[in-house]
Amino acid sequence: MAKPVIAIVGRPNVGKSTIFNRIVGERVSIVEDIPGVTRDRIYSSGEWLNYQFNVIDTGGIDIGDEPFLAQIRQQAEIAIDEADVIIFMTNGREGVTAADEEVAKILYRSKKPVVLAVNKVDNPDMRASVYDFYALGFGEPFPISGSHGLGLGDLLDAVAEHFKNLITEEYDEETIKFSLIGRPNVGKSSLVNALLGEERVIVSNIAGTTRDAVDTSYRYEGQDFVIIDTAGMRKKGKVYESTEKYSVLRALKAIDRSDVVLVVIDGEEGIIEQDKRIAGYAHEAGRAVVIVVNKWDAVEKDEKTMKDFEVKIRDHFQFLDYAPIVFLSAKTTRRIHTLLPQIVRASENHALRVQTTVLNDVIMDAVAMNPAPTDKGKRLKIYYATQVAVKPPAFAIFVNEPELMHFSYERFLQNRIRDAFGFEGTPIKIFSRARK
Ligand code: GDP
Ligand code: GDP
Repeated sequence: MAKPVIAIVGRPNVGKSTIFNRIVGERVSIVEDIPGVTRDRIYSSGEWLNYQFNVIDTGGIDIGDEPFLAQIRQQAEIAIDEADVIIFMTNGREGVTAADEEVAKILYRSKKPVVLAVNKVDNPDMRASVYDFYALGFGEPFPISGSHGLGLGDLLDAVAEHFKNLITEEYDEETIKFSLIGRPNVGKSSLVNALLGEERVIVSNIAGTTRDAVDTSYRYEGQDFVIIDTAGMRKKGKVYESTEKYSVLRALKAIDRSDVVLVVIDGEEGIIEQDKRIAGYAHEAGRAVVIVVNKWDAVEKDEKTMKDFEVKIRDHFQFLDYAPIVFLSAKTTRRIHTLLPQIVRASENHALRVQTTVLNDVIMDAVAMNPAPTDKGKRLKIYYATQVAVKPPAFAIFVNEPELMHFSYERFLQNRIRDAFGFEGTPIKIFSRARK
């Protein structure tokens, strides 16, 4: 089920990023964090009661040299385009300002539900000041304090009320959902067209779903696929579309809804820093990944070129050591048929559940071959292992003392699990737990 998306909007300094950080809290990453990706977070997941959702801090999306009012108007438009529920944030210490009214005007035009928050209401005496905010026309204002963490429960209750009315799209479990990410001009749209242009592809819709995203469903050799947010690659002609933060936001949303992410690289231009960041988003989200080197037709090649490029990729994207690499040309469609089998395999491995007995045989063989090192006279004892999750596969290893599990030994076990079960295309994770 796709998670609902909340956007926080409001003029600068009302406390949007403070509240964003409170709502998303400490993130429990299923795969390791990559520096540069975690920094500057404007999109993250949160949880309240039984609801899981994603949150956008629109204040983190700066729109070039646009004047102040144009910036906050565009941030409000992004919220309307990208979110299911909007938190409109104001400052109780300053009262209703002209800039708040500007934001309100944009939000009136949308059908999206808006919950009004009045921040910086740090103590109960200040609660009387919130009544002025009824004038903005969004019903009951919710007093909160980002600094003190007050009122957030009531605010999120009001937001979650709106989740109940959302129709979130649901694809069949058997359907493989994938998205294409990569910087502009690497050939994402061309690649989608090439895939859909294949013989025997039956495209069932390229229409809007219940959400704003436009997905493309198709069937190929009996397997259903959905390309997530295909239209996200088409231009709507809005000013903010060309900004870096907005494209990051779109990519993160698409990744979140996918099983498999294709990280598309321009083989002609080579790898640049931005590619690495984009690839990092897919890894951090714990999705299966296939690396696609496009425009291979435009590369002058000899028998070493592909191997050399592969070495470069492995060097730049060390965190994606599990991802297969496909070289192809969207333009000539050469080698395009090699892509789908990799997508299918990565997706299967992402959802793979291994047998507990076989898993334990693998772990015990590994331990016998390479016993855990001692630490200050104590030795790590491994009792048994079990798979606790899929998408991506995660394993709990029950031990005497989790602190004795060193990173390098965990790596060793992880590699043994990979050697035994494959898992090509998907990250996997190991947790050590004390046996009770
Ligand atoms: P944004 O520009 O809307 O994202 O605002 P920030 O989250 O960066 O906050 C702007 C300033 O307001 C910072 O100095 C925060 O520490 C402060 N602030 C945020 N929430 C509160 C609050 O509840 N009470 C008070 N007194 N200050 C707050
Ligand atoms: P996007 O911005 O990532 O969606 O990239 P596009 O699909 O719009 O492609 C950007 C440019 O690269 C266009 O001029 C395409 O014709 C060109 N292009 C795309 N795929 C290939 C390819 O396989 N080979 C070559 N030589 N050019 C390509």
